[in-house]
Amino acid sequence: MRRSAVLLAVACATLLAPGIGAPVQRQGSRNKLLLVSFDGFRWDYEQDVDTPNLDTMALDGVKARYMTPAFVTMTSPCHFTLVTGKYIENHGVVHNMYYNTTSKVKLPYHATLGIQRWWDNGSVPIWITAQRQGLKTGSFFYPGGNVTYQGMAVTLSRKEGILHNYKDEKEWRANIDTVMTWFTKEDLDLVTLYFGEPDSTGHKFGPDSQERKEMVAQVDRTVGYIRDSIRRSGLESRLNLIIASDHGMSTVNKSASDLVEFHKFPNFTFKDIEFELLDYGPNGMLLPKEGKADKVYEALKDAHPRLHVYKKESFPKSFHYANNPRITPLLMYSDPGYVIHGRLNVQFNNGEHGFDNKAMDMQTIFRAVGPSFKRGLEVEPFESVHVYELMCKLLGIVPEANDGDLSILLPTLTPETNGPLSTPLPTRTSETNGPLSTPLPTSHSGGRPSLVTGLLAAVILLAKVA
Ligand SMILES: [Zn+2]
Repeated sequence: MRRSAVLLAVACATLLAPGIGAPVQRQGSRNKLLLVSFDGFRWDYEQDVDTPNLDTMALDGVKARYMTPAFVTMTSPCHFTLVTGKYIENHGVVHNMYYNTTSKVKLPYHATLGIQRWWDNGSVPIWITAQRQGLKTGSFFYPGGNVTYQGMAVTLSRKEGILHNYKDEKEWRANIDTVMTWFTKEDLDLVTLYFGEPDSTGHKFGPDSQERKEMVAQVDRTVGYIRDSIRRSGLESRLNLIIASDHGMSTVNKSASDLVEFHKFPNFTFKDIEFELLDYGPNGMLLPKEGKADKVYEALKDAHPRLHVYKKESFPKSFHYANNPRITPLLMYSDPGYVIHGRLNVQFNNGEHGFDNKAMDMQTIFRAVGPSFKRGLEVEPFESVHVYELMCKLLGIVPEANDGDLSILLPTLTPETNGPLSTPLPTRTSETNGPLSTPLPTSHSGGRPSLVTGLLAAVILLAKVA
């Protein structure tokens, strides 16, 4: 191959590579975006608590009746879906815990937040996509924001310590103050901000507890503080605010006479198991020993009416969960209210999540306000996988390939915002978008003039070089 042809091929490959097209120019007029997540905020938590600030925000902006999370309804997987627009089998962060079925290593949630290879496994979250296109981003405690992706780190990031107190309201306000300076002094375009409540309180005391109601009131005061801070910082006319969450919460039926307890199942023995991930709410994964898969499956498939055990290849496709190399040959989930106990009963939470993402207790919230959003609009429920396309639209960046559809949330935007890209996008289904597949540029109608222009420029330039 002649040198010029090689150069041309390299130039074309570079231009065609996902997210590496001609960078979007930094624009003074670009609206900023703040995504706030309050972990484990069930969709109906506001119904038994006075929430004046959330109510005002609904009047000023957009409210979804509820938002359906991805399955599995766990913190890290669902947060990563929000920032990648992918179902969990397609982004690969399949559990809160890092695990390795060969080495048998299992790490808890907080340690897993720092495991590079757990997160950086083929998908590129919105921070990185935005930065590749010339924007500056920040992540404050947001799951997935602590590591680098394909060699790139989030511009500014804060990680919580291992013994972090997630419910200190004073610290929440200090964190919000920091985020405001990131927007005003550091000129960041996108920040994701995470709060660990009301999840922790929901787990400890249960979703129906007085403590949970008080925590929702604290969340509401914090929403008021965020909106006041946006005004005080002079950002109201150029910052869009999205408040969302990762999943809901269900009361655990701790004293039921029919607990799901592996150690009581007849015909089942842990001697047949090579690797297990149990005692984590309502989810479980098992790697049977060589030659034991059928025996273990037969012993478990009807072992308990509230336990649903599947071979990986038969796991319901509607969950978009099992088609990933990290998923073990056998996996399971239990009915709302029931957790899965393994060798011993070691789970004592009063509230839990991780259940079927269609269960009402797992539904969560989506709220938005700002210059790009309509006012006083309540929309019908939608899946959280669609938020990513909306955020890319708000930031004016080209999304990576994903499972979302911009047309779902486009009606939440004002006619001025809902402009040049208003044609519904062709979306790739998870069936075609295989696990860990190489991301391809999403084909927007008219969405990527820079690519064509760039290719033409490269051809002209290389013709001159040759
Ligand atoms: Zn969570």
